[in-house]
Amino acid sequence: GEALAVSARVAPLGSRLVLLLVEDLTEARRIEAVRRDFVANVSHELKTPVGALSLLSEAVTDASEDPEAVTRFAGRMQIEATRLTNLVQELIDLSRVQNDDPLEDAEPVRVDELVAEAIDRCRQQAGAKQITMAAGGTADLHVWGNRGQLAAALGNLVENAVNYSPARTRVGIAGRRVPTPRGDLIEIAVTDQGIGISEKDRDRVFERFYRVDPARSRATGGTGLGLAIVKHVAASHGGEVTVWSAEGQGSTFTLRLPEAGAVRDRAQPADLAP
Ligand code: ADP
Repeated sequence: GEALAVSARVAPLGSRLVLLLVEDLTEARRIEAVRRDFVANVSHELKTPVGALSLLSEAVTDASEDPEAVTRFAGRMQIEATRLTNLVQELIDLSRVQNDDPLEDAEPVRVDELVAEAIDRCRQQAGAKQITMAAGGTADLHVWGNRGQLAAALGNLVENAVNYSPARTRVGIAGRRVPTPRGDLIEIAVTDQGIGISEKDRDRVFERFYRVDPARSRATGGTGLGLAIVKHVAASHGGEVTVWSAEGQGSTFTLRLPEAGAVRDRAQPADLAP
């Protein structure tokens, strides 16, 4: 009713406006559908570990006479609880990157510090799989943005590289400056020798909750939110994230972000204006 009344009012102004309004309603409906999907997905993702915990707690009670079984069930409860914690943490991260304007407290951020932090975050997991991590080309590079969000983005890429690689492989992180007509960009490429991603999945992996292999992702504590967070952070910083991959050989995720100096230089003429 409301929409029709509005259409009738703007109709005399020309069909272009009506068209815009209709497009707007379609967009609103699309956003609503995405939101509903998201809530359904979150509910499902929460129910899985909660259901497992409930079954396991019953199993522990039933197995009270068998200490070995109790230890085994308790171990699995630990895994499910970790999964639940990861999921809640990533939901908090996602809502933070979607709601906070990252450029509000933007600053020049040292790329070598971001890289060191990302490597640190995965050290234990990489060690367990004897994965070698090596970084290069990051000295003297500065990106412009929100330190916490950028750390979360790069951390997710390195974590995935370790997660989706077999033992005794190598994860490389390479930084470089790329000149463009609109100022320098900083490229940070994370390369693994892991399972790779098929062409049909390459775009979809950036969607919230999309996983190529849900069982494998869950087994490693994955939530399917990591790359959605990375994509959001890249876009809100005026950058992008892309993926190159060869199935069975490995993947390279490349984060491109505005260089800190380039942003400062661009801002100067306006700052100096009378
Ligand atoms: P998850 O928590 O499942 O890792 P992400 O959003 O980080 O969620 O990634 C989505 C999916 O993309 C993963 O489930 C996995 O199938 C695929 N993926 C991400 N990174 C890699 C990688 N480096 N190598 C192979 N597959 C990957």
